[in-house]
Amino acid sequence: MKFNDALKDIKIYEAGKPIELVVREFGIDPKDVVKLASNENPKGCSIRVSQVIADNAYKAFLYPDDSMFELKDALSKKFNVLSENIIIGAGSDQVLEFLSRALLSEGDSVLMSQVTFAMYEIYAKQMGAKIVRTPSYEHKVDEFIEAYREHNPKIVYICTPNNPTGDATSREDVLKIIEAVDEDTLVVVDGAYMEYAAAKDEKYRIEPNDVIKFSNVIYLGTFSKAYGLGGMRVGYGIGDKKLINELYKMRPPFNITTLSLAAAIEACKDELFVEESIALHTKEITRYETFAKENGFEYIDSYTNFITYLFSDNMDSTEISDALLKQGVIIRNLASYGMNAVRITIGTKEQNDRLFEVLSKVV
Ligand SMILES: *Cc1c(COP(=O)(O)O)cnc(C)c1O
Repeated sequence: MKFNDALKDIKIYEAGKPIELVVREFGIDPKDVVKLASNENPKGCSIRVSQVIADNAYKAFLYPDDSMFELKDALSKKFNVLSENIIIGAGSDQVLEFLSRALLSEGDSVLMSQVTFAMYEIYAKQMGAKIVRTPSYEHKVDEFIEAYREHNPKIVYICTPNNPTGDATSREDVLKIIEAVDEDTLVVVDGAYMEYAAAKDEKYRIEPNDVIKFSNVIYLGTFSKAYGLGGMRVGYGIGDKKLINELYKMRPPFNITTLSLAAAIEACKDELFVEESIALHTKEITRYETFAKENGFEYIDSYTNFITYLFSDNMDSTEISDALLKQGVIIRNLASYGMNAVRITIGTKEQNDRLFEVLSKVV
């Protein structure tokens, strides 16, 4: 069988290791496993949301409302946009896939920062597109504009705050990049962690309306991180009506399940849960900063729900992640991104205590 040539160059996405794997491989009791690898919300999800999922379970035999009227209505009120500006995906990942398929052909190029969300590359390569990266992991305006002029990419990805590094790009800088790009190029502003950045510093807050007045920009958001619904797979894209309309052509029917829709609609009504999640996070992340200083390694100032620790040459991120895994603590090694670094999701107080206990023995 001969597969599409484009596949030769694609590395399979490596998700954070699941709890079940650690239980199986190291015989650790599931309740002793601490998973700080996939940027899930340590508070879980809102009780109101889990109740709604339970209440709607009997509807599992029905196809979902394919118009997604209620969820789009809730998002349009939340962001002060029209429903026609919104497309819902099974995670914002699916919206990334739609736009890649809608725009890219073989030989096109896409532009992103040196170290950023791995799926941008995978979706682009599926279409045979070439990947261009700026020299820095941060989104530097000059580097983006220079690379844009040189390569004329079809898509420019701005991940702010950036995963897996945790840094953010200010609203002002994002607008500078957008203004330098002409309307044949789509700019994706991926705000998967925006709730955390906006709470930390206003100058990093980007609302869809700040950017979608440009007809070639799409803003992406998700319920997977601050809203604690990673398992329900709901994300959204917000942009100009014409752009959204083209993306609809790529959408499979019923892409969001009945229970996921119900969960996301309820989550929109429980903003208090998000505020409490951020309050817990803000308190706990300072402990991670202190821990790094006390143990003599660097970290990247984080605008997300995780922190990235940077190790010097006498420490190896792969050895450190493997040693933690054997103790039942799952973190994300960034060696595959070319960094001697690890990404750790900020957990509950107890999870973080355990991480510090195990990591201080290892380092
Ligand atoms: C988690 C994440 C997403 C998408 O997550 P979904 O669960 O598919 O909504 C998108 N971009 C970045 C940078 C992320 O970290």
